[in-house]
Parts: sequence; C-alpha cells; structure tokens
Amino acid sequence: MAMTAHVLIVAGTDSSGGAGLSRDVETVATFGLRSAIAVTAVTVQTHTSVERIEPMPPDLVAEQMRAALASSRVAAIKIGMLSGNATIEAVAAVLRDQDKLPVVLDPVLASSSGRSLLGPEAIGSLTRELMPLCAIATPNLIELGILTGEETARDEAQVEHQARRLLETGCAAILVKGGHATGPQSIDMLVVRQGREPMHFVAPRLDKNMRGTGCMLASAIAAGLALGKPLEDCVHEAKRHVFEQIVSLGRRQPV
Ligand code: PLP
Repeated sequence: MAMTAHVLIVAGTDSSGGAGLSRDVETVATFGLRSAIAVTAVTVQTHTSVERIEPMPPDLVAEQMRAALASSRVAAIKIGMLSGNATIEAVAAVLRDQDKLPVVLDPVLASSSGRSLLGPEAIGSLTRELMPLCAIATPNLIELGILTGEETARDEAQVEHQARRLLETGCAAILVKGGHATGPQSIDMLVVRQGREPMHFVAPRLDKNMRGTGCMLASAIAAGLALGKPLEDCVHEAKRHVFEQIVSLGRRQPV
C-alpha cells in the first residue's frame, strides 16, 4: 500500500496553540495528509504575549529534517519560524541535498503581539541562503518591506515592485498577504518569475481575527503542492481554507 504523503513542517512550537507547529499539523491534516516535523524553537506564549523563546541547536534541526525525509514519503516542505542565522544555514544545507521537493517559506519575523521571532541580522541569510531554494514565500506587507529593505508598500504598484525584487533572490513565486492592510477585502498578490502579470486572490475582510493564519495559509499551500496541484490552485484553496477557519473559529474584533 502506498504511504500517505507527508508535509515536512520545519517550525517553532507555540504553547497557546494559536500559531506555529500545532496549527501547521492541524492544517495539513484537514487536507488529508500527514505531517513529519522538525522543531526549530520552543516558545512559551499566550495569545497576547511571547514569554520565552528557546531555539533548538541548528544541528538538531537538520538532523530532525534528515530523519523525517528518510522515514516518511515527504512530498512538500513548509518552513515557518527560524530562530537565527545558524538555523537558516542548517536548514538550507538539508534543502540543497534534495532538489525535488517544493518548499514553502513563511518568513515569520514577529508575533502579532509584537515580539521579534527572527532578528534583523538574519534577514540577509534568509534572502541569500533560503529563498533561492523555495517554490514560494508568503510575506505579509510588513515582512515584504523588511525583506527588501524598503518602507512598507502603500499601494499596489509598490507591492508588485517589492515582490519582484524578492524574486531576484531566486525564489520562484512570492505571495504577498494583504491581511494587514485595510479595506473591505483581503487581497493577496501572487507574483511569479516568468514575466507574468500578478494574480490576485480576494476574500471578504471579516470583523474577526485569529492568530496563526499565516501558518495556516503556508501549510495549506504546502499540502496542495504535496498533492501535486498547480501553485495557483494551491493558493486559491489555501486562501479559502483560511477564510473558512476565521469564519468558524475567529474571535470578534474588539470595537
Ligand atoms: N509563534 C510561532 C511559533 C509562529 O510560528 C508564529 C507565526 O508563524 C507566530 C508565533 C506568530 O503568529 P501570530 O502572528 O498569530 O502571533
């Protein structure tokens, strides 16, 4: 019997269950797939604060990845929180030894409570070492600005300009999440390498919010890629999945 496809999740834990690894595993399961895991950091969090971050040793992260790849039928890799330069380099080294699996990178830089999860000193190695190995990266508007060293984009032309600059790293596609913007719709922009026009993915903006939506979106895209779907379909289904989760589980925004 064929082994169920796995998504290898390389991410940090969040004790509140709001974001991070447990969100990723739940998301992958809703797509009928299993997860293999490599823990990059253990974090102590509530829904409103990050109390403590304990990065795992980089060689331990790499060993977990290699063991996961050796023991399960991994069909895609999702990367979330990385705790520093050495971890980024260790993860990139494992990815370079395999060049066939699609890699989805959620460039997690901060928690929504404002605490930094990856310092500014690691931005260079993220864009130089890791992004060239990825099928898609999923920054929000703020992360996009930080990754390009520019101010947060204020209009669509600026978003596209910054996304195209990130493509120069060698990453095959950039999905810019519009969840932090304002307006009646949440619009994500997908920019791919081969001189194509940007694609837009639209969902109504809800008066609810939820933690871990970035983790969910990237994991859902990885699940789609693991199932062999075209990238555009994966993004479309992932966006719908996140919307449905916010509708059913999100908390009403304080007014
Ligand atoms: N904690 C961990 C371990 C994460 O991986 C992430 C995001 O990927 C966050 C926190 C941030 O989530 P939120 O923006 O919902 O606080």
